[in-house]
Amino acid sequence: MSITLTTPVKLLSGVGPSKAAALKRLGIETVDDLLHHYPTSYYFAPRYGEPLVTGTPGTVVGIVTSVSGSSWGTPKFTAVVDTSDRDGYTHVTWFNGGYLRNQIFKGSRLMVSGIVDRDGGFTNPAYRVLKPSETPDPSVLNSVTYPVTKGITSREMSRLMLAIPRSLWWGRSPLPEALWFIHFPENQQCVDTARRQLKYDELFYMQLALAVQQAKRATVGPNVVCASTPADTTKYFPFNLTSEQMSAIGDIDADLCSGRAMNRLLQGDVGCGKTAVAAYAAILVAMNGGQTAILCPTEILARQHYETFKKYFDRAGVSVSLMIGNPPSDCKQIWGSDIVVGTTALLNPDRHFTRGLGLVIIDEQHKFGVEQRAVLRRHGNPHVLVMTATPIPRTIAMTVFGDLDVSSIKELPPGRLPVETTWHYDCDEAVMDRLHVELEAGHQVYVVCPRIEALNDEMRAVEEVVEEYRRLSPDASVGVLHGQMSPESKRLMQNWWTYPSDLGRILVSTTVVEVGVDNPNATVMVIEGAERFGLAQLWQLRGRVGRGKDQAYCFLLSDTDSQDARARLRAMETATSGFEIAEQDLILRGPGDLLSTSQHGLPDLKIADLVADYDILLEAREDAQNLVRRNPDLSGHPEMRAELVKRFGDYLDLGDVG
Ligand code: ADP
Ligand code: MG
Repeated sequence: MSITLTTPVKLLSGVGPSKAAALKRLGIETVDDLLHHYPTSYYFAPRYGEPLVTGTPGTVVGIVTSVSGSSWGTPKFTAVVDTSDRDGYTHVTWFNGGYLRNQIFKGSRLMVSGIVDRDGGFTNPAYRVLKPSETPDPSVLNSVTYPVTKGITSREMSRLMLAIPRSLWWGRSPLPEALWFIHFPENQQCVDTARRQLKYDELFYMQLALAVQQAKRATVGPNVVCASTPADTTKYFPFNLTSEQMSAIGDIDADLCSGRAMNRLLQGDVGCGKTAVAAYAAILVAMNGGQTAILCPTEILARQHYETFKKYFDRAGVSVSLMIGNPPSDCKQIWGSDIVVGTTALLNPDRHFTRGLGLVIIDEQHKFGVEQRAVLRRHGNPHVLVMTATPIPRTIAMTVFGDLDVSSIKELPPGRLPVETTWHYDCDEAVMDRLHVELEAGHQVYVVCPRIEALNDEMRAVEEVVEEYRRLSPDASVGVLHGQMSPESKRLMQNWWTYPSDLGRILVSTTVVEVGVDNPNATVMVIEGAERFGLAQLWQLRGRVGRGKDQAYCFLLSDTDSQDARARLRAMETATSGFEIAEQDLILRGPGDLLSTSQHGLPDLKIADLVADYDILLEAREDAQNLVRRNPDLSGHPEMRAELVKRFGDYLDLGDVG
């Protein structure tokens, strides 16, 4: 049998059913998977004869002067080695070393290597019993540690690697040497070089995939090319746009008129006014004969956007419909309007926009996956504008969203006061006093609970919280909103909440208010069990208040001991921008959470770390982009192209041209 990269590992000699099962648990099914199962650490035995330093690797060679624990059944085995070259004795202990009584005797010539103990000896070191004439070679004691599982050891893993024919290692572009040395390095420097090369390689191909994707999209004409842009935007909005809103609008103008499909991410803190920018884009497309779909993550948000857009669009003379759940009977009219606002129902592939889908706006992008973005692309090649208020750390912007152009709004509309944020152990007097002052002024209060039912004794159920606030504020009216309510009651609750009133109101809810909901009259946000929320989510939640001209307050309630949670709460008290929060969040959580495959559709990284290897990411990105700029279809680089198709064929949909 000739072995290829796609050969199942179970066909390799020495791999029986149980080993194959163990490998499978590690995600290794083919020879190619095996080659890319990288070690996590290495041990390089230093030269012998050097002084031993506690806590660092050391090697000694000498004659065994005594052994103990060699009687049957005693697992611990110790040997004293006369290391005459160092003018002393070294004590060596192996736990579970009973078997050594048959290998190491008084008088044996022994080489051991490992991390030096506090008392200058070794515990469980690597060893070799030397023949009398043998020249000691410490490198035979080098070892490699792989991620393993029950049923396979690191040593067996190395042996399997060796069973892969050399021709496969070398036949495998583009980095055969790095691949070899990552498994069989001669020294640490060799590991470092190989690791860096493989990281670069991994990030380079990822960035190449993104750059090719971007270039490819640019070659297909958009459904709608905008010929004209309005000279004056002021007539659409009841306020003057901020300069950053204007500059985002400038980017969008340029995209929509460029003859290429827009693929843009609009990011900016909650409340910075992304909706108006989106509305502008929709108006522009409508002026040029195209339709716009506005996709919202929740019904509540869809309804709210619908109301807001109606106000803007009436001024612009543009028609707008709401599409939630099952289409009503007269849906002809809906699919013919200039703008259709809705939830994922809009993604259904049998939806027909009668005049052609010119633009897709996706609000709160982080709630959607690439698949959904891809579904939308079935409607030809619409312009796409995605919006997010969860500011994206630089690394993520370059990877998950690496194929998007980015506009950022970094300022809030004028007159906004920062939300005064404080962390309290519980709903204490300071919190209650503020609450009552605000309620008496006719303002509204959000109380957010982490989950809908008390799953353990710590968390009170939402209803209990409602009761508590009814008791604490008998004059206020208290409502409740959570994900398990019927759409109808949600809608009623939403109306109750947003409709102006002289009465102070409290809305107790789960995180359904997290995204988008806009009520400028709300001035207090109380977050119960604040330790249970991630930083980005806390930031989002807090963004629900401080949207009007009045000073707003956020109370984070938590008596947590967790260091991480306390760090998050402190960050919330002091951070002044969502961008700061995003970077902090990435550090506290690691990129894993933000980078699930379902979100970006790219293969997982095997060796590079987007945070730690940021400099390599930058280099790889620049190289990939330069290359694609010069040669968008990579026709001048057939090998690179083949490799790209092999790794990213599914993602790129490139199979046809590979
Ligand atoms: P987000 O970026 O979080 O989606 P919104 O678009 O919902 O923010 O805007 C938040 C609030 O700010 C809304 O009430 C909106 O009417 C208001 N707003 C937006 N732009 C401006 C502006 N330039 N001047 C004053 N208010 C604005
Ligand atoms: Mg919004």
